Amino acid sequence: MFIAKEIQTAAYLFASILFILSLGGLSSQESAKRGVFYGIVGMIVAILATVLGEGVAGQMYIVIAIAIASAIGLMLARKVEMTAMPQLVAILHSFVGLAAVLVGFGSYLDPETQSLQGAAHTIHLTEVYIGIFIGAITFTGSIIAWGKLEGKVRSKALLYPGRHAVNVILLLICIVLGVLFAGQEGTSGLVHLYIMTAIASFIGVMLVMAIGGGDMPVVVSMLNSYSGWAASAAGFMLGNDLLIVTGALVGSSGAILSIHMCEAMNRSFFSVILGGFGNAPASKGEAKKMEGEVTALNHEEVAALLKEAKSVVIVPGYGMAVAKAQYPIYDMVQTLRKAGKNVRFAIHPVAGRLPGHMNVLLAEANVPYDIVLEMDEINDDLPDTDVVMVIGANDVVNPSAQDDPASSIYGMPVIEAWKAEKVIIMKRSMSAGYSGEDNPLFYKPNSEMLYGDAKDSVEKILTYLKA
Ligand code: NDP
Repeated sequence: MFIAKEIQTAAYLFASILFILSLGGLSSQESAKRGVFYGIVGMIVAILATVLGEGVAGQMYIVIAIAIASAIGLMLARKVEMTAMPQLVAILHSFVGLAAVLVGFGSYLDPETQSLQGAAHTIHLTEVYIGIFIGAITFTGSIIAWGKLEGKVRSKALLYPGRHAVNVILLLICIVLGVLFAGQEGTSGLVHLYIMTAIASFIGVMLVMAIGGGDMPVVVSMLNSYSGWAASAAGFMLGNDLLIVTGALVGSSGAILSIHMCEAMNRSFFSVILGGFGNAPASKGEAKKMEGEVTALNHEEVAALLKEAKSVVIVPGYGMAVAKAQYPIYDMVQTLRKAGKNVRFAIHPVAGRLPGHMNVLLAEANVPYDIVLEMDEINDDLPDTDVVMVIGANDVVNPSAQDDPASSIYGMPVIEAWKAEKVIIMKRSMSAGYSGEDNPLFYKPNSEMLYGDAKDSVEKILTYLKA
């Protein structure tokens, strides 16, 4: 059964509108669920319109493949922990990259495209070449990003002298190969494609290997953008308008997200897309020595502090996700609010391991949106705050980002927890955060440590608060 071309075009237009509405919905927490729903409907419409389109052969195989892939996808999505979400996203990006490479080779070898003549032929070859190039970079880059996030590849940046020059030379070789490729008849350009694919795959590996530590979040959103452009390129090769539009939406929204994240981390966007911008320069001098003494409180003492406080700000981080502490935290917040205290959350744009990580977890525990504030909205209130509770966060409250040029996170905007009257830091030990940097906040005279698993600690505090 096939649908007419006009109906397919209308369905594609409808799906494109749904994807745009979906992206719009995802821009705020209140409308995020609606956004996801639009996305799902749009994707179902898109798949149906494509599979039922004229000239598609072997629909039965496509349906079986979709069913198997959907079952695997469902199983993975149900199983994956929130803390492992970035890895999942990274590996999914690699699939898009691989798909673009395969579509590129398929499209090049397709006898129908062989018959193209003149400008149409050159344009097609250019699409194939660029599509495979972006796809291969996305494929290998995403696998390395997955490895780094999963701890299979060392997370420290791999920097070697002259790497930018090597990248530029490799890029130039690819351009020259591309020009030669465009002049080939029949399928004799296949060898050019193989060489370029190998070089692009190597560039993908090196680009992501060169990025380390606290800069990984940008890499994930950058690869998201690359995967969009790879899909768009595949759309050109297949002559599928919807794929072009959808790829461009993903590509540009990923790029906008990367720019926002670069701003949040005070990084230059261009040095990110060129690979390797963190963990860097030698000129910054020695790291500051930790000064002061570390003091700790027990759960009862923290509960007593909270009982006295009028205003409390909670800064959650990756440790909250690990401990799954969001539920008892919200219990504690409700108890404190009932006692008339002003309790709010302060969210750093890169707290956790993926953008919006903390917001998702707090929403899961039904924390009302109006008490969840962004870093920029709350930083000015911190000097007038009685108690800041840092729960499983580290880098995002590290003062070195403001005053230690030798720190790898220097320049990254942070939540200025130390400005509050009292800071309680809840974590299991004195170990460093994701960036590997020590945190002078722990040594400040107004800071107190509360050691232990975040969930366990919050539950204990809660018992004292309710007593
Ligand atoms: P950090 O990784 O800096 O710190 C998390 C802290 O949580 C650790 O110091 C750890 O200390 C503590 N912790 C771990 N498990 C528990 C537990 N069960 N109970 C209590 N504490 C626990 O996290 P932040 O959220 O502060 O900062 C995010 C970092 O991750 C930034 O450097 C950011 O750049 C990076 N990043 C962010 C991404 C994003 O998109 N948001 C993606 C990838 C990286 P201890 O072991 O002592 O308990």
